Amino acid sequence: MFGRAGCAGDNYLPSMQLLPTVLLKPGEADRIVAGHPWIYHGSVLRLTQPAADGELVQVKDHRQRFLGVGFYNSRSKIVVRVLSPERVDADQAFFEQRIRAALTVRQRHLPQASSFRVVNAESDFLSGLIIDKYEDVLVVQTSSLGMDQRKPVILAALHGIFSPRAIVERNEASSRKFEGLPDANGILAGSLEGPVAIKLNGLQFEVDVLGGHKTGLYLDQQVNYQRVAELAKGAHVLDAFSFLGGFGLHAARAGAAQVHLLDQSGDVIAGALRHAAANGFAERCSAEAVNVFDWLKAQTVTKPHEKVIPRWDLIVLDPPSFTRNRAAVPDALRGYKEIHLRALKLLKTGGTLATFCCSHHVNAGLFQDTVLSAAFDARRILRRVATYSQSPDHPIIPMIPETEYLKGFAFEVVR
Ligand code: SAH
Repeated sequence: MFGRAGCAGDNYLPSMQLLPTVLLKPGEADRIVAGHPWIYHGSVLRLTQPAADGELVQVKDHRQRFLGVGFYNSRSKIVVRVLSPERVDADQAFFEQRIRAALTVRQRHLPQASSFRVVNAESDFLSGLIIDKYEDVLVVQTSSLGMDQRKPVILAALHGIFSPRAIVERNEASSRKFEGLPDANGILAGSLEGPVAIKLNGLQFEVDVLGGHKTGLYLDQQVNYQRVAELAKGAHVLDAFSFLGGFGLHAARAGAAQVHLLDQSGDVIAGALRHAAANGFAERCSAEAVNVFDWLKAQTVTKPHEKVIPRWDLIVLDPPSFTRNRAAVPDALRGYKEIHLRALKLLKTGGTLATFCCSHHVNAGLFQDTVLSAAFDARRILRRVATYSQSPDHPIIPMIPETEYLKGFAFEVVR
C-alpha cells in the first residue's frame, strides 16, 4: 500500500499541483518514506501557501522531492497525517479501496470472525480512522480533523462495502480535543434498538455500541481468549479486570471447574453475569464488583504466623493501561508489580498466570521484568509458556511503533 514515494507519475492528478506544499527540514523525510504517517510542527521547514485545517496538502522534502499527500491541521501537534505516498484524492473511491484492502487483511488472518476491527488507523495507513464491525453494525471513530471532515464519503464507502444495518459514531476519544474536535456520540445512519447480539469465537455477547467501553468490546483480545482458555481445563479461574468476562467465559467453555470475575463496575459485573447465563455457564461462574487492588490485598494480607493459602489454578490479569504518557510509567510499574505480587501468592504451584499490559509505553521486556521482580518478592519461580500480542485485526506495523501496544505472557509457577 505504501509503495515507493514516486515522482509525478501515471496517476498524477492535475489538481494536485494546486495543493499547498509542506516542505520538510533536511533529515525529516526518511521516516515518512519508511511509512510513518506523522509530521510534527518541528519537522516543517515551511508551507508554500496557506492551507486550511483539515485539507489535503502535499509533502515534499527540502529538495522538493514529492513524499506524499496528507491531512493538514495547524492546531494539532501532528501537523500533517500522511495518507498516501501517491497523489490520491481523499474521496469515496479512495476510502472504498483502502477499507477493502484492510478487510482483506482481516479475512486472511481472522477468517472465522464476524465481528472485528475493520480499520485500525495507523495500522491501516488511515491515521485518525477506526472502524469496528459488530456483525451488521459498524462503529466509526474519527480522531483527526481531516478524517472527521470526510465522514460523509467514509459512510458512503461503508454502505457500498457492507450494507450495514446501522452506523454509529463513538467520538469521545481524548485525542479529538488535540485536533480541536468536540465529543460526538450517536447513530449516523440506519437505526438501532438496544444492544447488538454478536458471536465471538462462537460465544454470545450483547454489545452496547453506544455506551460500552471502547466501541463496545475489547476486540483486541479476540485471539487471546481462545489461547488462554487452552490452559483452563478443570481449573479454578480468577478473571481480574474482567469487563464482560471475555477470558472467564472462554475458560468456562473450555472446561474450567469454576470461574470468578472481578471488575470495579457494578453495571459491568451485572452484564458479565447475564453473559455467563446466556452462554449456559451460570452455575460455574461467579462475579464481584470490587477494586481488584483492594480485593487482592484482602486475600493476601495475613496475621503473623498465618499463611496465604493458594487457591487458584489460573489467574488472568488484564488491567486498563495505567499510563497516559511516558511520565506515568514508574507509577504504572508499581501498580503492575503489586497486582502480580499478590496474584502470584494466590496461585497454586503448577498454576498459571496469564497477564496482559496494554500500555504502549511499557514494552514487553519492561513488562516481563516487572513480573519477575514480583516473582522474586513472592519467592516464586516462573516458566514462560506463552506470549501474546494484539489480535491481527489490530495489525502491528513495526515502522510505526505506536501501532504495537498489547502484550501478554502466560507463566506457570514452577515452585
Ligand atoms: N479483560 C477484559 C478487558 C479489561 S479492560 C476483556 O477482555 O473484555 C479493564 C477493565 O478493568 C475495565 O472493565 C474496567 O472497568 C476495569 N477496572 C479498571 N480499574 C479497575 C480496578 N482498580 N479494579 C477493578 N476493575 C478495574
